[in-house]
Amino acid sequence: MKNTLFICSLLAAATAQAGSGPEFDAKHLSQDVKVLASDEFEGRGPNTAGETKTVAYLIEQFKAAGLQPAGDLLKGQKTQRSWTQDVPLGRFEIKGPVKLVVSDGNTRQELKQGDDMAVRAAMNGSHQVDFRNAPLVFVGYGVNAPERKWDDFKGFDLRGKLAVVLINDPDFETGVGDFGGKAMTYYGRWTYKYEEMARRGALGTIIVHETAPASYGWATVKNSNTNVMYDIVRKQPASAHAPMEAWIQRDLAVDLFKRGGQDFEALKKLAQTRAFKPVQLKGVNLSASYAVDAQTIVSKNVAGRMIGSTAPEQTVIYSAHWDHLGVGLPDAKGDKIYNGAVDNGTGIAALLELARAYGKAPAPQRSVVFLAVTAEEKGLLGSEYYAAYPLYPLAETAGVINMDALSPYGPARNFTISGSAKLDLLDQLIAKAKQMDMAYAPDPKPEAGHFFRSDHFPFAKRGVPAISFGSGDDWIDGGLAAGRKAEEDYNTNNYHQPSDEWSANWPFTGMAHDLGLLYGLGRDLADSNAWPNWAHDAEFRATRDASSARRK
Ligand SMILES: [Zn+2]
Repeated sequence: MKNTLFICSLLAAATAQAGSGPEFDAKHLSQDVKVLASDEFEGRGPNTAGETKTVAYLIEQFKAAGLQPAGDLLKGQKTQRSWTQDVPLGRFEIKGPVKLVVSDGNTRQELKQGDDMAVRAAMNGSHQVDFRNAPLVFVGYGVNAPERKWDDFKGFDLRGKLAVVLINDPDFETGVGDFGGKAMTYYGRWTYKYEEMARRGALGTIIVHETAPASYGWATVKNSNTNVMYDIVRKQPASAHAPMEAWIQRDLAVDLFKRGGQDFEALKKLAQTRAFKPVQLKGVNLSASYAVDAQTIVSKNVAGRMIGSTAPEQTVIYSAHWDHLGVGLPDAKGDKIYNGAVDNGTGIAALLELARAYGKAPAPQRSVVFLAVTAEEKGLLGSEYYAAYPLYPLAETAGVINMDALSPYGPARNFTISGSAKLDLLDQLIAKAKQMDMAYAPDPKPEAGHFFRSDHFPFAKRGVPAISFGSGDDWIDGGLAAGRKAEEDYNTNNYHQPSDEWSANWPFTGMAHDLGLLYGLGRDLADSNAWPNWAHDAEFRATRDASSARRK
């Protein structure tokens, strides 16, 4: 995640040696990123000519590395596979005006889409959302967490009602409690709120926006919700999405609570306790009407496999997303191609170089799958599709190691993962890193919920031990000052901008070094019969344990 004018230092040898393991070539990494981030690949947008080129390049490299095709089964075949997995995606867009009217018996108030509320295009399969005078029910943080003996719903029936819910989890404000304190558990994430209300058959979810617990301002909420939306094509979309999914400005919510005879701050305090019960805002109703255009596009995940020698039906996955933003609005220089060199040319280059290393080494005991997923930038959809329709059973997938936006610079003394979580796989990574004199630097802002925002997460949510590796910021050459400066520079000047382009000055020696660590972690797992798990109080432990009979 770094960028700045940088002169390759003497310390940066072209090849990094990874303990007793294989060697990883910084020149290969640079070459792969250069190709993937070239203008010819048009920013690698799903369902574009850029996708066709990217997929062809990945297949060619997987073949050359000695992998077997690991995608969809070929028609009429029981074992023969394609190199790709089709990923059908729904594309949803609001057409025409969004009519929103709130009434409290005395007054009718028209609300403005984007300013007062941010309503997403419906993804439940309907082309028209239309309801009149739906009651608003405050459900606190909207959490049902049996392992923490926490239930905000207390049996309340949400059918035909709109659930008004707080963002983050019940102990975010106080910093102490059963939900990891300041750190965000999955119960705090907006995706969880939407999913939980859909499971309960609610008419809709309205999240109250507050900047601190959301970790971003209203502009982000508005931009990411009033745009074109994407989802994987689901067999039962209504079980994953309520008809209305929306956010509301805090001040407006406070006012609606008042009109319904309630005090927002007092109820919020109560919502931080187990005693909380849903509260209907008496007499306050919302009517809504808007049309939704829904279409389907097909993109592809690319998958190659080293078949295991003794337990081929068991799987270890390395993953990275191949897609980026494609062609979009021009920057100040008139550049319209969002090349995505760091994000995520680097992760894909790492995946390819790992595949080459495995291809040269003796076959591991378990199978190792190299998975390049699509549509991360549209909401982790390629990984969500794989996890919903796995090519190899999740119950027998021992672990997932994801890579996204790695540092193209020199080596660091530390490393990180996206977000915070408690699982054996992370402990194993930390132990392995120690052997290489590398320290674990935990996410400094675990309340932002980064654990839920990368491609390992659709696996984690289904119980598979999974993490996203992140490059360190304590550089051997220049220390924390240099590492942090590069990171800040990248975030400000290049992240999700046309200027995220390959540079001949990037040494890639840090990545080559870190791949020794990621190879070691995956290889140990692939050569063992152990099944690492989540910590006992982790929110994904129960889901994993439910399939334990299949891991004898
Ligand atoms: Zn990315």
